[in-house]
Amino acid sequence: MNKLILLLLPLSLFAKLNIAVSYPYIGALVEEIAQDKLKITVLAKGNWDPHFVVPKPSLIVKLRRSDALIMNGGQLEIGWLPPLIRRAANSKVHVNTSSFLNLSHQVQMIQIPVSVDRSLGDVHPDGNPHFHLDPNNILVLAKSITRFLIQLDAENKTFYEKNLNEFTQRWNNNLLRWKTKMQAKKGMKILQFHDNLAYFNKAYGLESIATIEPLPGIPPSSKHVFKLISLIESEKPQCILHDVYHSTKTAKYLKNKTNIKIILMPHDINALDGIESLENLFDYLVKEVSNV
Ligand SMILES: [Zn+2]
Repeated sequence: MNKLILLLLPLSLFAKLNIAVSYPYIGALVEEIAQDKLKITVLAKGNWDPHFVVPKPSLIVKLRRSDALIMNGGQLEIGWLPPLIRRAANSKVHVNTSSFLNLSHQVQMIQIPVSVDRSLGDVHPDGNPHFHLDPNNILVLAKSITRFLIQLDAENKTFYEKNLNEFTQRWNNNLLRWKTKMQAKKGMKILQFHDNLAYFNKAYGLESIATIEPLPGIPPSSKHVFKLISLIESEKPQCILHDVYHSTKTAKYLKNKTNIKIILMPHDINALDGIESLENLFDYLVKEVSNV
């Protein structure tokens, strides 16, 4: 190819595909598989409430420049991503296109409600969307992301498959390590603010006896808080596993009344300082719970 032809070719032929993802954990998985072959644009920050990301204009620009979009789904992004997609006016990031992946379709959702009164503001109408916090699901998600990337960029198929194999081996070792550490905690009763850890709890047999919010997304009333105090006194849970983005005011009130411990549990990469990878995230969660 001579220089003149090279100059005439559109720039896009040389640019890396730009994959937009809604949350940092998805970005980390894409990076495991694609490494430097693709550009990754993460829309939400890891320390934000994943249900309520502020739909800033800068996010519209990011979506406009993307070649594909991977989202968590299960209504986790319902409050912020659909309007951004509409305003980005980029057909590549539209639902039901081959360059769009909804991860919630790849896993078994739990806590699917029989009926939902949306007027109450329940933010889990399709079931609990925090499935990535079961570390076993991470492998399922990695496989579907690999299939998706191969479909977008068939040229690097072998490279993506090799990275998936390496990641799977590494992750399987982690799963064994975490399972061993968590064995002693089977049946441990806990409280949460929001039910972020439903899948983590299920994976390791922790029993979440109540949430400080009466329904997902609904702030606690004083009546509900009084019910929690008597529940803590009768059921004697070990701790409150609290997310990093809701105020711990009510949890501290419960601690004052019942002496229950509060443990901050990050839900994504960078939710707390030092949580820089998926391994860090689960190492941290497992360590905090094992130390209770
Ligand atoms: Zn939620």
